[in-house]
Amino acid sequence: MFRNSLVYLAYRKLKYSYAGDTSPAVASIKVTQRCNLRCKHCTWVNKVTRDLPLARWRELIDTLYKRGCAVVFIEGGEPTLRDDIAEIISYIKRKGLVCVLFTNGTRKLDGLDSDAVWISIDGTEISHDQVRGEGAYRQIMATLKDYPDKNTYSMTTLSRLNVTELEDICGELSSTSLKGLIFNFMYPYKDIEQLVLSREERIACARRLLELKRKYPKILSSDSYLKTVGRPDKLCHPWILLLVTADGRITHGCTVEPMEERNCEVCDMMCGLEATLGFELKRDSVHFWNKNHILPKIDYLPDWTLRLLNNKK
Ligand code: SF4
Ligand code: SF4
Repeated sequence: MFRNSLVYLAYRKLKYSYAGDTSPAVASIKVTQRCNLRCKHCTWVNKVTRDLPLARWRELIDTLYKRGCAVVFIEGGEPTLRDDIAEIISYIKRKGLVCVLFTNGTRKLDGLDSDAVWISIDGTEISHDQVRGEGAYRQIMATLKDYPDKNTYSMTTLSRLNVTELEDICGELSSTSLKGLIFNFMYPYKDIEQLVLSREERIACARRLLELKRKYPKILSSDSYLKTVGRPDKLCHPWILLLVTADGRITHGCTVEPMEERNCEVCDMMCGLEATLGFELKRDSVHFWNKNHILPKIDYLPDWTLRLLNNKK
């Protein structure tokens, strides 16, 4: 698998460096704004629009495919609230794209055949439930027990709400059937600025995570990403990303921009940075994507690329 990710990323790096190709690689599609939870920090759920029909999502997925995306993250709201979510997943996979389902983990996953499932977990039981509502954490643990063989990962967004629990979070989640723990830093969107860690706090937190990786090998966030946190000279290629909002609007580039003007100086979000580091062929970041099984299979690439890369060995 490692080789597969490396081949894809090397192919994209060559196209970027020598042909100036800035077509997107990773799409996030917000298939609904509806959600069964009301998290304190949520910036999307209150902006409810009507769900687009399946036929329209098929057209949008065709567009993503034509524009070069290789990986599709299904997000929300809570995507599993859609009755046709299994059809959306299977359509993405039929196109040969890698599919990752993002969920709050409180709902059944029967028949949902995504390549990976990322579950938002904000802390230990007390802090998670303070943010997401009573009983939400226990529902996630039940989900993990119900689907021990699914390719599940936790996604923890670090903020003032959970930073003091960092080690407890790593310990608790490492003892579950999760295949890996992924960390992110909250972006200071206008309505949640007060929850966001200062630059110094983010750096300290990232350093602590680097230490904790030795004790908890399930932590997947790459060293390269964690060492980038807080640096003013960090590299981000926002063109890797493409976002489709629930009303079908497509934005190519930084995921902050559909909401407000971006400010890279205060951003340490993993989506842009970990993807960029993978594109820059940082070995541990390639490994991060690879471990998630979310980079394209080798047969996605055109034959000439494989021949070219094989000849280079
Ligand atoms: S689960 Fe996600 S979409 Fe739902 S309220 Fe929480 S943050 Fe918002
Ligand atoms: S705001 Fe963050 S994700 Fe957007 S371009 Fe800047 S660093 Fe990248």
